[in-house]
Amino acid sequence: MQDYREVCLFLTLRCNQQCRYCHRFLGIDEVGYEDNKRIIDKLTEDKIYNVTFTGGEPLLYPNILELLKYAKEKGIKSKIITNGEILAKNPKMREIYNYLDSITLSIDSIDNDINEKLGRGYNHFIKIKEVLDSLKNHKLKVNINTVVSKVNLNYLEELGDFLKEYNLNTWRIFKFAPLRETAKLNEKEFEISNVEFRTHKPIFASFPNINKIEFRENDDMESKYLLIMPNAEVIITENNEDVVIGNILENNISELLKNRVTTKKTSKIMEKIRTLISYNTETEIMPIINRIKELDYVDLIGISANGIDTYNKIVNLKPEIVFAEYNLEGMSGLELVEKSKQKLNDEMPVFNFISDNIPEEQVEEIVNIAGNKVMQLIQKNQMADKIVNALREYNDIKQD
Ligand code: SF4
Repeated sequence: MQDYREVCLFLTLRCNQQCRYCHRFLGIDEVGYEDNKRIIDKLTEDKIYNVTFTGGEPLLYPNILELLKYAKEKGIKSKIITNGEILAKNPKMREIYNYLDSITLSIDSIDNDINEKLGRGYNHFIKIKEVLDSLKNHKLKVNINTVVSKVNLNYLEELGDFLKEYNLNTWRIFKFAPLRETAKLNEKEFEISNVEFRTHKPIFASFPNINKIEFRENDDMESKYLLIMPNAEVIITENNEDVVIGNILENNISELLKNRVTTKKTSKIMEKIRTLISYNTETEIMPIINRIKELDYVDLIGISANGIDTYNKIVNLKPEIVFAEYNLEGMSGLELVEKSKQKLNDEMPVFNFISDNIPEEQVEEIVNIAGNKVMQLIQKNQMADKIVNALREYNDIKQD
């Protein structure tokens, strides 16, 4: 069994950028500060002293300063991977430099248009420059992560010219990997072959003053690390599959790894039902959302409060099942089904509509368009039980 001495702790999956190649997990809750302190304690009990804090954007985690300080007191060598936005905007957050062993910033191009296209935002380069400048007088190691894809493949040299002016520890160059979630959806836009990736390697030989340049391809990404999700579940990534081996708040990592040898069946994140909920009023739907979150076979990947956003989430996040108020602000259920069918055809989700009054002819039209992709129409006063039952039923169908 692999000996894991390094872990990646995903503090939050929230992010302030929208990279279109992002392969972070989605729809997983965060534990609070006290639980994260317990996670740190449990890691040190197992003599794991190398922790990479990541996300989403880890600096969005509310207690990040206290947590990094606590980790340092416990002897942890902390690394952080950040997109740099918060450090550029809020110099006070640079206090984290005092608690870190190394910091990794993400930049894929110095070209504003490319950054916009990648989803990082037009001014990403300027922000990273500001953060790199602010790190000049600090002792911590500074690394750069770059994802190479079809979009920036031919612009790496100018990025290297910029980076070589800084005293970098490592420049890690990742080949775009359609590992999960958004990255899988946008695979065609970003995918490059191993050959394309490798033939660009010689460019990097022209930056001898960058201490170390590492290249990472699909099969060596993340598999070296043990991943701890924001909800404290521990994941091993093997053959591009994420396998949950347990929860660190319940068992130490050493126990989870030991049990894993004898555990025949492991749960996989991808087996959960990818669910989207859309309702005009948040206060009415929140109690139901809380019930859904308790179902361990459901992955609530999105919540929405209007029609356009629901449609965008259907297209971008590809839920398997949608529970939507029929008259969503800005779009009726019928329009939602029509647009989804046009865009996704058979890949559109199963729709369940919540309403006390849907005109009969519209119901017929929906059934005509969606066929077996309509599961049921739900009265508002029964929606909690009906939604939970529909998910249970759907799960049973999936298991068969
Ligand atoms: S790649 Fe990183 S910065 Fe970009 S959206 Fe994903 S988590 Fe955020």
